[in-house]
Amino acid sequence: MKRSRLDDLIMEEEHLSCLDRDILDRIRLKKLNALLQKEKERNGFYSSLPSSLSSLKELSLLPFTSDEDLRSQYTRMFLGSSADIARVMSETTSGTTGQAKRVFYTARDLDHTIRFFAAGIGEMAESGETVMIGMPYAGPGSLSDLIAGGTEGCGAVPVQLLPGTLHQQCLQYHECQPGCVIDMPAVLLARARYYESVFGKGSFPLRKALISGDTASKEVEQALREEFRLTLYPHYGSREMCMGGAITCQAFEGMHLREHQIIGEIIDENGNVLEDGQWGELVITTIDMEALPLIRYRTGDHARFLKDPCPCGSVTGRLDRITRITEENSLMEQLDDCLMKYPQVLDVRAAMDHEVLDAEVLVLAGTGEEELRRAFVSCFGAAAGQFSLRTADNSSNLLHAGKRKVSVR
Ligand SMILES: [Zn+2]
Repeated sequence: MKRSRLDDLIMEEEHLSCLDRDILDRIRLKKLNALLQKEKERNGFYSSLPSSLSSLKELSLLPFTSDEDLRSQYTRMFLGSSADIARVMSETTSGTTGQAKRVFYTARDLDHTIRFFAAGIGEMAESGETVMIGMPYAGPGSLSDLIAGGTEGCGAVPVQLLPGTLHQQCLQYHECQPGCVIDMPAVLLARARYYESVFGKGSFPLRKALISGDTASKEVEQALREEFRLTLYPHYGSREMCMGGAITCQAFEGMHLREHQIIGEIIDENGNVLEDGQWGELVITTIDMEALPLIRYRTGDHARFLKDPCPCGSVTGRLDRITRITEENSLMEQLDDCLMKYPQVLDVRAAMDHEVLDAEVLVLAGTGEEELRRAFVSCFGAAAGQFSLRTADNSSNLLHAGKRKVSVR
């Protein structure tokens, strides 16, 4: 089995002729200490921390950075000048309260992500193969733009899925006949199901999918594998880690974290660091981020590091499947597990108001309501509220504009 391409990338970027765990840890400690030193000198957000640690273990003694810190203190966390900024990712907020989260990147930060994406996409796509990009294009330096750069970087050919109705996007799939895609899992499943309702069972052209950008419920992943015979390459990333975080190798057993640039820890609810194999919240320290490095940032994601070395032989740690801890995300996952296993279901949208969950389901033409309604009631019991079906036609769009989550009031 070929070792994860991430190891080759680390060797190239760190100018190494060989790589083992000790070498990697020495690099991580050196970068962490350089960051602490810099913060001390510039009197930045982290200036009260020690200017150097003697081992990576001592990282666990430092305080956490919360989501609230990032929202309110990002100007103090920002390193460098505004002239260095190549891209700002700003969160869209639905309410009028609270401050939007902003994360900044330099050209170097974006370049690191493109190179990391090239390693991840290279695990899936052959040289010259067409890779459809399902995430909407949002300008230079956006996620889809970085993915296109990564796809070209591994020698494959990116094709951007254009905005349009579900039907128009399926026509684009039909014309392009891509073998690989990079997309959010539930959205991909909806496109695949709609496609086969138009072009016939077994007609969906994809064979391999790098899924990212949203948590995937187990039923969604299973449907992609079984209904469409897709080989899945889960990826994990977030704005705080400049979109790219962890990739799947040829062993398909967890996702390798780019540990030469990100230190990951798993903590329990009291903030104690857990051993590999134990589930908890993922905490990240972005030791090589130029614009906005974070020290012990609590991601709000539920994860664990796998205990044993990967069969691929990589020296990097692997994250198991990851879920968001928030109620709106876990409800969405439960809804998907409950309803997306029915092959006629394309999408689900729901709102929780005072413990009552109302759901709207987008389905293929000819779908009866009774079976789905029964499944909904049996999953949510007393919380199950209104339930309605909407039948997809040529002018339909999916039900979520951005990330899929339940709105909770
Ligand atoms: Zn591996």
